[in-house]
Amino acid sequence: MTIYQPQSSAAASKPQRDSAYKTALAQFDRAAQILGLESGLYEILRAPRRELTVNFPVKMDNGEIRCFTGYRVHHNTARGPTKGGIRYSPQVDLEEVRALAMWMTWKCAVVNIPYGGAKGGVVVDPKQLSLRELEALTRRYTTEITPLISPEGDIPAPDMGTNPQVMAWIMDTYSMHRGYSVPAIVTGKPLNIGGSAGRFEATGRGIMFTVREAYRTFGWSFDGIRIAIQGFGNVGSITAQTAHEMGCKVIAVSDIGGGIYNPHGIDIPKLRRFMKEHRSVTEFPEGDRITNAELLTLQCDVLVPAATENQITADNAAQVRARMIAEGANGPTTPEADEILLENNVVVIPDILCNAGGVVVSYFEWVQSLQQLFWEEEDVMHRLERIMVRSFHDVYETALRMDIDLRTAALVLGIGRVAEATRTRGLYP
Ligand code: GLU
Repeated sequence: MTIYQPQSSAAASKPQRDSAYKTALAQFDRAAQILGLESGLYEILRAPRRELTVNFPVKMDNGEIRCFTGYRVHHNTARGPTKGGIRYSPQVDLEEVRALAMWMTWKCAVVNIPYGGAKGGVVVDPKQLSLRELEALTRRYTTEITPLISPEGDIPAPDMGTNPQVMAWIMDTYSMHRGYSVPAIVTGKPLNIGGSAGRFEATGRGIMFTVREAYRTFGWSFDGIRIAIQGFGNVGSITAQTAHEMGCKVIAVSDIGGGIYNPHGIDIPKLRRFMKEHRSVTEFPEGDRITNAELLTLQCDVLVPAATENQITADNAAQVRARMIAEGANGPTTPEADEILLENNVVVIPDILCNAGGVVVSYFEWVQSLQQLFWEEEDVMHRLERIMVRSFHDVYETALRMDIDLRTAALVLGIGRVAEATRTRGLYP
């Protein structure tokens, strides 16, 4: 047994970052002002509905007990049960989860699926845990947040640091407590326990459906466009694969270890095979090494930030040389950067539209799980494309009509829909 030794707290050693919640609130305030929201409604929509913080122990492989902190936040329930992923990250805190939950509310409203927004997180670096430890942590966290989750009330899904296996453990843990299988408790499950065809690919595909539709709408030529992608997790790698299949040239990709650049286009299927046995894209021999900062300012047609928040800021926005930014991550651009990009005529397809493919197919998965009736991948993809194309036009037409940028338009559309639902439901009691 080891004896407790006081250490400098993790929070104190955390690098200072712009707060995602500050960004989310600034975006909300701007859209609320344009919408002319009455003050009561403004306050309702701005605040998280409920928040849960849990501290719980996990027995590690060496026999020691470690305590972890987790969260689950429901932002808004006006349009339906809450929906949103669970993030495992050493940086996650309550404020970040609040921001991500708020973005989920607007995202579900923009693509018009019947959900409110939620998000969860555990302060942990999952790469530091063994598979057994990860399972134990997931099962205990699931049990701790059981008061907030249910198939009709709040349905978790994957996010950064979690994957289909983690969803399987969540589903199993919840089901063990109930005494029967409850597949609709979570989405992003493996296919063999009731996951949906196409869910794993959904976010990346949705991003490229949206980019292609934007190009079509603007009358720009889509053929062979050059794309740079920051992040090579689920979102970044599937975006790269889809871009490749659509005939685009992926000239740069990166992960936490740095990036690679190849002006002739990276062989994405080969890179994805390579990544099954390697830790970082920087080990791939067919390209020049670049940093993440360099990737963001590369000369290209479309830049896809698909890593984490606050990547494009007042410090680097003026150096962005892409024609379009397609936000794969949630909150990658700060409000200050937005202003600079707007001035420089860089088109930003905002996160709550661009990366909504994930939650759209989560919705399909939930419907299939509730009905125990499963769809073909082709149906899933057709329906996904229809929703992404329709949502792009809803946002674009809002932008034209109100003479505002696409991010503000998406927020106005999403927040407006949640406001309408709130008015229609009325106030209880
Ligand atoms: N974590 C994803 C997001 O940020 C997916 C959420 C879901 O499928 O519920 O949109």
